[in-house]
Amino acid sequence: MTETRTAFRTCPLCEAGCGLEISVEIAKKGDRTEERVTRIRGDMNDVFSHGYICPKGSTLKQLHDDPDRLRRPLVKRNGVHVEVSWPEAWDEVAGRLGEIIERHGRESVAAYLGNPGAHNVGALLYNRTFLQGLGSRRRFSASTVDQMPKQVACGYVFGSGATIPVPDLDHTDYLLMLGANPYASNGSLCTAPDFPGRLEAIRARGGRVVVVDPRRSRTAEEADLWVPIRPGADAYFLMSIVQVLFAETLVRLPEHIADLVNGVDDVREAASAFAPEVTSAVTGLEPDLVRRVARELAAAPSAAVYGRIGTTTTEFGTTTSWLVEVVNALTGNLDRRGGAMFTTPAVGSPSTRGKPGVGAGFRIGRGGGKTVVRGYPEVMGEYPVAALAEEITEAGDERIRALVTVAGNPVLSTPHSQQLDAALDALDFMVSVDIYLNETTRHADVILPPPSQLQREHYDVALLSFAVRNVANYSDAVLALDDDQPDEWEILCKLALIAQGLGPDADPSLADEAQIDALVRSAIADPTSPIHGRDADEIRAQLDRHRGPTRQLDFMLQTGPYGAAFGANPNGASIDHLRANPHGVDYGPLQTRLPDALRTKSGRVELAPAELLADVARMHAHLDEFTRRDLVLVGRRHLRSNNSWMHNIDVLVKGKPRCTLHVHPDDAARLGVREGSVARITSRVGSVDAVVEITDGIRPGVVSLPHGWGHGQPGTRLRVAAERAGVNSNVLTDHQAIDPLSGTSVLNGIPVTVVPV
Ligand code: SF4
Repeated sequence: MTETRTAFRTCPLCEAGCGLEISVEIAKKGDRTEERVTRIRGDMNDVFSHGYICPKGSTLKQLHDDPDRLRRPLVKRNGVHVEVSWPEAWDEVAGRLGEIIERHGRESVAAYLGNPGAHNVGALLYNRTFLQGLGSRRRFSASTVDQMPKQVACGYVFGSGATIPVPDLDHTDYLLMLGANPYASNGSLCTAPDFPGRLEAIRARGGRVVVVDPRRSRTAEEADLWVPIRPGADAYFLMSIVQVLFAETLVRLPEHIADLVNGVDDVREAASAFAPEVTSAVTGLEPDLVRRVARELAAAPSAAVYGRIGTTTTEFGTTTSWLVEVVNALTGNLDRRGGAMFTTPAVGSPSTRGKPGVGAGFRIGRGGGKTVVRGYPEVMGEYPVAALAEEITEAGDERIRALVTVAGNPVLSTPHSQQLDAALDALDFMVSVDIYLNETTRHADVILPPPSQLQREHYDVALLSFAVRNVANYSDAVLALDDDQPDEWEILCKLALIAQGLGPDADPSLADEAQIDALVRSAIADPTSPIHGRDADEIRAQLDRHRGPTRQLDFMLQTGPYGAAFGANPNGASIDHLRANPHGVDYGPLQTRLPDALRTKSGRVELAPAELLADVARMHAHLDEFTRRDLVLVGRRHLRSNNSWMHNIDVLVKGKPRCTLHVHPDDAARLGVREGSVARITSRVGSVDAVVEITDGIRPGVVSLPHGWGHGQPGTRLRVAAERAGVNSNVLTDHQAIDPLSGTSVLNGIPVTVVPV
C-alpha cells in the first residue's frame, strides 16, 4: 500500500533559499513504513521564490540517494577507510583527540568550517558549541576564500560584520554589479530567489543594469552595459567614481543621515589622486566610460552598487567592499528605497539586538592571537585559511597536530592546494564531519557523516539576514533519520563534550541544555530584550517542547523583531507560527533602518575608517604592478555547479565538460593554443593542464578556470565526479597572496603563463 504526502522545504544548496514542493511516497511493508522522495519542484506559493528553482534544487533527491554518500562512520585502518559503528567511531575520536589535547594543549587542535554550514541550521547553531568545547583559537573557514572582506569593511563602517546592506533589487532604478554573476549563482550576501528575474524586472520598469567583470558572463550579456575591467582593479574603478562624484559636485548624502556621516572630507581627499585618467592603466577602462557610470549613478532616481566574489577575493578585497558602500552613501542611496538597504531578519542580528544606534564597534586582532608562522591577526574569530598548511608544518612546537573539519573541502577550495594536501598528511589526527569521502576527508582518521539534507530541519539563520525582503521560512526534516544516525547538532555537541574530556559516552543533550540555558538567562538579564525580567522557568517551559536547533530557533524567533515573546505578542514569530505557514511569512519590503541599525562606537556611519584610509597608500604603491601583468587567471561558476561538492550528481555534471580554460582569441593566437587542445597553466606555486575553450567573452590578457574541480584522487569515493574530474584551479592560486585587511586569499587575478602541451 502506498500513499503520497507533500512537504515544503527551503532549498539549502545556495543563498537564494528557494521554496521546494517535495512529493514523498509512503509505502507500508509489514510493520515498517518506508518513505522516498518521488518529485521535487518549485513551491508556487512560497512567499519569496514563487515557484522559481534552478537545476540544482530538484537534485536533493539524487543527493539523498547517492550511493557514495556516507551513512556510517569511517575509521582509517592501515591506510584504508572502513565502516564502523557509531560507538567505535566515538571511541577512536575520544581516545586520540583526548590524548593530543592532554599532551599538547587545546591550541594544538584546529577547526576548519566549510561553506555548507552557512546553509544548515544544525551546523550554524552548533558549530559554536563545538568551537567553545574545543577551546582553541585556531579556527579557519571558507570565509577567507569568500566574503570576509565585505564583513570587515561593513564592520568598520556600520559597527558589525553582520550589518551588511543589500541592493533593494525590487525597487532600484539602476544596479551596478561588480564581480557577481547571479545568472549562474543567484545572489550572495544578497538573498534573492530568482535574482535573474529580478534583474529583468529592473529593465522592464525602465531601469538599467550595469555589470563590471573581466568576463562577459551570462549576467553581463543580459545587462545594459558590460564594463570589461582588468581583474582585481575594482578598487581603482570605484575610487575613480568617487573622484568624479566630488569633482563634478554630484555628491548628495541621504537626507535622513546627512548629519550622521563621519569622514566625507577624508574620502574626498583619498580619492582626489584617482581621476579616471590615472586609473585607466590599471582598470583597462576608458576614462569616459568611468565618468559615464558615475554620472548615471548620481542621476538615477535610485541606484545600488553591489560587489561580490570577483571583488572580495582580490588583493584589495576589503578596500573594494568599503568603496561600494562609500559610493552608495555619496550618491544618496544608502538606506533608501531602491538603494542599498538593511534587512530586518526575524531571528534577529547584531543590528537588532542591544541598544539601537550604538555599539562596541568593530576591530580585528581581538585577544591578541596571531598565526604562528606569518603572524596574521584574528578576524571575526578566525585566521586566514591560506595560513592553515604552514601552521601544520612550519610552526615547530606550536604546530597544529590535530584538525577537525566540518562540511568543507579545503583541499579543493583554498589556495596552493598541493601544499595543504601534503600538510594534512603530517597531522597526528584528523576528524571530518562530512557526507562524502572527498579530496580533504580522505586524509581523516575518522569521518562522522551527518544526515542528508532532506533529513534535516531548515531555517536560513544567516542568509535571511541579507535578504531583499524581510521573510521567515522554517521547514521540518522531510525524511526521518536512518537507524542509529545522530543528528548533525548531536555530532557537534558530542565532539564538544569529548574535547572537554567527558568521554565517548557523553550525552549531546548536556551541551544543548547548557547552551539554551545561557541564552535564556542572558536575554532575561538584558534590558533591551523583549523578555527582560521574565521568569526563566516560565520561558523554559514553553521552549522545552523542542530540543536541538528547533528549540534554539524558537527562542531566537520569539525574541526577534517580529517575535511572539513567549505570549506577549500572540501572532508573532515562533516555530509554531512558521509551522502553520509552510510557504513562509512575508514581513514586507526592506525599511529604512539608520541610525538604529548602527553599532559603531560613535553612533555614526564611519565612512572613512582609519584602517581603510591607510590602505589607500597600498593602492598608490600598486599602480604600476597591475600594468606589468601579462596574463592573469580568474575563476568562474556554472549554474549546475556548487563549489566542489555537487559534482557527484550525474544530472548536474553530464554533458559538455565544463572545467575548461577560457582564452580570448587574441591570446590564443599569441600563445599558440587551439580550441580543444590542452594547455599548461603555470603560476608561482603550481601547474595544471586543461582543455582550451576559445571565447571572446573574456578580456584579452585574462584566462578563466572554474573552481571546485580536480576530483579522482586516490582514496576518495566520488565515482561520478571521478569520471569528470577536471583540474583544481587552486593548485595555481598562491597562499602568499592575501588581502591584508581581512586575511582573505586572492583567487582572482593570479599571474600565470599558458603554453600548449
Ligand atoms: S537557486 Fe537553485 S540551488 Fe539555489 S536555492 Fe534556488 S533551487 Fe536551490
